[in-house]
Amino acid sequence: MLVTLIFGGNQGDRKALIGEAITEMSSIGKIKHCSSLYETAPWGFESPDSFYNQIVTYETNLLPEEVLNKCQATEQKLGRVRTGSQFCSRTIDIDILFCDSQIINTTRLTVPHPRLTQRNFVLTPLKEIMPDFIHPVIHKTITTLFMECEDTLKAEAIEKCRI
Ligand code: ADP
Ligand code: MG
Repeated sequence: MLVTLIFGGNQGDRKALIGEAITEMSSIGKIKHCSSLYETAPWGFESPDSFYNQIVTYETNLLPEEVLNKCQATEQKLGRVRTGSQFCSRTIDIDILFCDSQIINTTRLTVPHPRLTQRNFVLTPLKEIMPDFIHPVIHKTITTLFMECEDTLKAEAIEKCRI
């Protein structure tokens, strides 16, 4: 199965954390595609830090729920920073966008990811690596979904994939 994962964060050393998470997730299988690293401006004044995102596909023999377990374990392992004397806020989010063209609706997992069509920070890197992939529920290509997306926030490529 080809699984498409999005890595994101807006705290700590965002670039290093995403890189470490991508490497850690390689235990599920071989990397097939890797987008550039993107930066998206934060909404309003609520968060002072912009978001970084990167999308990677892996060829894996694991089941979707097993991939989710590994995503969550990796978030646990990497997604905490020392602030003062405590470990707290989560700094890395790993979501499953697609598992081949499977449609999954369980209590733990919704695939394709339900909000991916509304967000430029997902569609922009997706279009870079798989522009012709057809969304299995909406039956439109990533390029078409990107053109139809009304999100006004721009996701800007800041670094090519180095893997
Ligand atoms: P979010 O990603 O929405 O900001 P979390 O990372 O805390 O929030 O995830 C909340 C829950 O979303 C997880 O416990 C997980 O079971 C569920 N979930 C449902 N579908 C997916 C998916 N496609 N990828 C990752 N998590 C998912
Ligand atoms: Mg998540």
